[in-house]
Amino acid sequence: MVGDAVAKVYDCDAYTLHRHPPLAITLPETTDEVSAVVRWCREHDQPFTPRGAGTGLSGGAIPACGGVVVSLSRMRRILEIDLPNRLMLAQAGCPNLSLSRAVAEHGYHFAPDPSSQTVCTLGGNIAENSGGPHTLKYGVTTDHVLGVTLVDDSGTVRNFGGRVAEAPGLDLLGLLVGSEGTLGIVTEAWVRLTPLPAAVRTVLASFDTPLDATRTVSDVIRAGVIPAAMEFMDGHVIHAVEAAFHTGLPLDAGALLLIECDGEDEAVVEREISSAVEIAKTHKALDIQVAADEETRSRLWTARKKGIGALGRIAPSLVTHDGVIPRSRLPEVLEFVYDVAREAGIGVANIFHAGDGNLHPIFLFDERDPEQLEAVTRAGEAVMRRCIEEGGSVTGEHGIGVEKIGLLAEMFSETDLRWQRTIRDCFRTTDLCNPGKVFPSSKSCVEVRVRHRAVPV
Ligand SMILES: Cc1cc2nc3c(=O)[nH]c(=O)nc-3n(C[C@H](O)[C@H](O)[C@H](O)COP(=O)(O)OP(=O)(O)OC[C@H]3O[C@@H](n4cnc5c(N)ncnc54)[C@H](O)[C@@H]3O)c2cc1C
Repeated sequence: MVGDAVAKVYDCDAYTLHRHPPLAITLPETTDEVSAVVRWCREHDQPFTPRGAGTGLSGGAIPACGGVVVSLSRMRRILEIDLPNRLMLAQAGCPNLSLSRAVAEHGYHFAPDPSSQTVCTLGGNIAENSGGPHTLKYGVTTDHVLGVTLVDDSGTVRNFGGRVAEAPGLDLLGLLVGSEGTLGIVTEAWVRLTPLPAAVRTVLASFDTPLDATRTVSDVIRAGVIPAAMEFMDGHVIHAVEAAFHTGLPLDAGALLLIECDGEDEAVVEREISSAVEIAKTHKALDIQVAADEETRSRLWTARKKGIGALGRIAPSLVTHDGVIPRSRLPEVLEFVYDVAREAGIGVANIFHAGDGNLHPIFLFDERDPEQLEAVTRAGEAVMRRCIEEGGSVTGEHGIGVEKIGLLAEMFSETDLRWQRTIRDCFRTTDLCNPGKVFPSSKSCVEVRVRHRAVPV
């Protein structure tokens, strides 16, 4: 059992609009200990919620129906590094960046790099199928996971995949990655190691308007260049980052693109970045700053990765939305985001992996004011609906969690949802594993936020 102060630490993740205290928190160190906790939960009919670092942005790690939080934060051991086969076996609580740090001296890294990578865990990345700036070129988490050990809701330890990439039969591992901790608790995983590129070129292009920057994005890809990363920040983010971290971003710009190309051949990389720069110039780039050394590159990436954190200084509450649209539609949909916020009377800042067509409007408000809370909820729904209309999705990388349960019914038909639930239930014999997430729960412990649409349970 936990006291109020401890419960507060675990009653939400980085999506703070929904909270629920846990009954108890456990900190297992091995797969067997995780299994023992799950068996106890089953015996006592208590729900359990897997938790990594709690950086999730859709409420996935909230103990929505109470019960036991299973924190993987003490399971942070790297168990094996297999350089000849470019593989690593690690416990699920390893912070993402610790994987890359462990093999950097050998010239490798773990490619998925969420901006929260200093703290977010491998287990959280697997559960959310997380992306990051460099997943534009290198692919998201599922492309880098070869096998997992999972404790299912009966406490049984099961293995999916392993050291070898291709297994016959249906792709159950693919199903587990991105299942948001609803199919069991991942305790260990085999991941691919990717060689560090021999050549890297990074530029920061500044623009007067978000429109010019986002037009550049689709034209770069259309020209046949796939940068390693192409990240967007608007003027609000620039000002917040500069006020907090003084990284030297141009304060007169309305938008920035951080573009990075990499590869094995210096000349090819040089050609790619030059072509991206030429395209930026055709869209009225104000200035192009080239990162001439590693220190400058690192400063630019620090500015990008601290963007969301810096926004925390300028408003009491933030909600980071996460839609995805065909990238050619970014200019129009981004205009729509600014219009929606203006009409709702709330602030919005935008920072996102533009190359992937991700959209992360961050609404800035005060959650203590019920009117602002309502306005933010409605604004978020409007933006997500526009993503659906554009042929996109209500989540690019942050998951459904508790936040977007209501919107799923707008994306999928009842038949689609029934099939998805049927497949989920093949992995489970109870509703104890992270109930109230992704699909409405039979326990009805989560209020579905989209109130004006019926959601089939
Ligand atoms: C500043 C900031 C920047 C971010 N940038 C990115 C980004 O660039 N790209 C991106 O994709 N996301 C990003 N995120 C979102 C978040 O960091 C990722 O979703 C991350 O993968 C969550 O990891 P975590 O360890 O914090 O998981 P948690 O938040 O603890 O949990 C997330 C979900 O995973 C489940 N889970 C956790 N561990 C396990 C496990 N071992 N087994 C089964 N289920 C588990 C939980 O139940 C929950 O449903 C960002 C978040 C913040 C706050």
